[in-house]
Amino acid sequence: MKNSTALVWFRRDLRVEDHAALYHALSGHTRVYCVFVFDTDILAALKQPDDRRVEFIWHSVKELSVTLKNLGGELMVCHGGAAEEIPALAKKLAVRAVYCNHDYEPAAVARDQTVAASLAAQNIDFHTFKDQVIFEKDEVLTQAGRPYTVFTPYKNAWLKKLDGFFLKAYPVEKYVAHLASPAATLTLPSLESMGFRSTNLLQLGIQPGTSGARALFEDFQPRMAGYKARRDFPAVKGVSYLSVHNRFGTISIRELARRAAQENNEGANTWLSELIWRDFYFAILYHFPHAAERSFKPEYGALKFDNDEYHFKAWCEGRTGYPLVDAAMRQLNQTGFMHNRLRMIVASFLVKDLIIDWRWGEKYFAEQLNDFDLAANNGGWQWAASTGCDAQPYFRIFNPITQSEKFDPDGKFIRRYVPELQGLSSADLHAPWLARPMDIASSGIVLGKHYPKPIVDHATARVKALALFRS
Ligand code: FAD
Repeated sequence: MKNSTALVWFRRDLRVEDHAALYHALSGHTRVYCVFVFDTDILAALKQPDDRRVEFIWHSVKELSVTLKNLGGELMVCHGGAAEEIPALAKKLAVRAVYCNHDYEPAAVARDQTVAASLAAQNIDFHTFKDQVIFEKDEVLTQAGRPYTVFTPYKNAWLKKLDGFFLKAYPVEKYVAHLASPAATLTLPSLESMGFRSTNLLQLGIQPGTSGARALFEDFQPRMAGYKARRDFPAVKGVSYLSVHNRFGTISIRELARRAAQENNEGANTWLSELIWRDFYFAILYHFPHAAERSFKPEYGALKFDNDEYHFKAWCEGRTGYPLVDAAMRQLNQTGFMHNRLRMIVASFLVKDLIIDWRWGEKYFAEQLNDFDLAANNGGWQWAASTGCDAQPYFRIFNPITQSEKFDPDGKFIRRYVPELQGLSSADLHAPWLARPMDIASSGIVLGKHYPKPIVDHATARVKALALFRS
């Protein structure tokens, strides 16, 4: 549209390259403004001032703002309620339309409806696009037109539908000349002015922004072929570590899926499957928003969990006496990341060994994970708790000792996060209380003093969990 002005609202898509909403705004309008809102409705719910996610976003927004400036545009940054800020800014800038990408979380859907209504009242259009997934909403349905609730048929239908069109990048670069600089600049507020502070994010080597995503993806590509063989071992660099970037959209999902599809070997196909799980959980949350609050399967809605506060605290703090569970929880607390195999193990342990409501664990993960994403987190927890759509059957209960022996055989990961057990042999590390007393004594460790004794007995807990689920 000649001589028309638009506003692009960045949310969980903090990049310029291959960005659906930005492309559509730039190709349809001659002056395009850009904005990011530090949404107080979301930030108010965060408990800690040192929240790594906020810092990750802050650095990513800063990088995005430099990139846009170099291209002749400008990123305005607001701090306030997005539902009010966006319509107010659109009015002030007298734009014809606001553009953004879809967000499938129930609260975001409600917010976007409010924004759409406020904009409509001012005669401003609101255009939204698919961007953070390959297929969304009703794009992959059963032959009967119903959403899939089992992963494998969903994946088969997803793969069948995939062609070059869905993986094609949006050529934003063709229209960057339409980026505009507003007269009144809203600059990036400091973390402190928003009630937050710097964390150990950068010391951990987590590099935010598109530059960080790109560095990780470059590093992963030569390892993609070996993904299937290496991905289950937390002490091995087998996975991509891209989840926080996928969460905040610093890299395009189309680029990742395209690369995996091109490589087309066992490792790449397995990795592509993980990206499909991501789409699957977004679709589940979209079609079944009740899953965000309660069991996907209603028959498991009334499970009578023990919910022992002391056990929950021990789990959160990595003091259960099961070394791999404790190492995993300490990794989460210290870094905001946890390896996928470990997420499954600690989730199973919380629900089926400690008999604690999966929602307690889900909430704790939501507070701690850098890559926290409602759809994936809820999906993962409901899978582990056997309450989900395509979940682990309730009678399949991870044994935390054999999992430890299998996936951290040399105890390298355990030793990193539970250094008090350094002195134990690799064979004894997985279940120190089963070690011979003389071996424990010679390692200098006193169980119950330097490291806890197990807070529950796995075999007993297993029987209890089976009875609970059967009832
Ligand atoms: P890779 O193995 O390299 O996989 C590539 C990408 O695929 C990931 O970056 C991620 O975007 C996606 N992905 C991988 N596995 C899954 C999956 N099972 N479901 C959905 N997407 C997936 N993932 C999150 O992104 N946010 C969460 O809040 C989250 N919570 C989880 C909670 C539980 C209890 C479980 C069992 C899993 C959870 N996952 C979550 C999925 C998975 O553990 C992480 O995505 C993965 O460990 C991230 O590491 P990576 O980037 O190296 O993944």
